[in-house]
Amino acid sequence: MRKIVLLVGLLAACFVAAAQEIEIACDKFNSFNNEVLKTPTTKALAAQQFKELIGHIQHALIIRSEVRISEPAWIFPLQGYNYHAVGGNGNGYFDKGYRYIDGNKHAAHPAHDIFINDRNQDCIDDHTKKPVNVVAADEGIVIACSNEWEPASSLRGGKYIWIYHNYSGVITYYAHNSAIFVKPGQEVKPGQKIAEVGRTGYNAYKKRSPTHLHFSAFRLVDDIPVPFNPYQQLKKAKTL
Ligand SMILES: [Zn+2]
Repeated sequence: MRKIVLLVGLLAACFVAAAQEIEIACDKFNSFNNEVLKTPTTKALAAQQFKELIGHIQHALIIRSEVRISEPAWIFPLQGYNYHAVGGNGNGYFDKGYRYIDGNKHAAHPAHDIFINDRNQDCIDDHTKKPVNVVAADEGIVIACSNEWEPASSLRGGKYIWIYHNYSGVITYYAHNSAIFVKPGQEVKPGQKIAEVGRTGYNAYKKRSPTHLHFSAFRLVDDIPVPFNPYQQLKKAKTL
């Protein structure tokens, strides 16, 4: 009996240690990501950060031995919307010349802008009269985010979130939110509310920009995030 109690205690301690390990690794990565936005970095440094971060997450998950059998379809990242809200029928994605290491000064638009019904640009849905919830496309771990942004800022993403989906190896990015409700190291479930759609970000704040979520998906190639076009996944995604 005592042995079982000891074992349970040991397991619980491992769980806590694993969660802390993820949190510390994500905090460290979050600081690095903030730095990249201010000053573009080198490929080697970015690769080293990602390698460490993902290594910590994987190690922590092995301790908890979590298994997922199948790869379910995504949840559409805007509650109440579907792929019809994606700008230009999916033609807004353009990744040529994009490099993660260029930070805020990157070229191209490796993303889809997903527009909400907001003619007067108050970030309230004209039909539901409520803010629109941004939800996690799949389960994962928040690896970086920023809840700080001022209209004078030149940062383009505004209040943004990066999520690493440990089961698929995909990273998703959600930008221009009005408010975010997660922090680095936090685990999220598919469809969990992570933010509300907003107009934060250098260009998104301007009057000429209709209110939207800027959504990207990446895979790590040589430990560097490389964007891919997620339009097919968005098309198949389930609307909450
Ligand atoms: Zn965009």
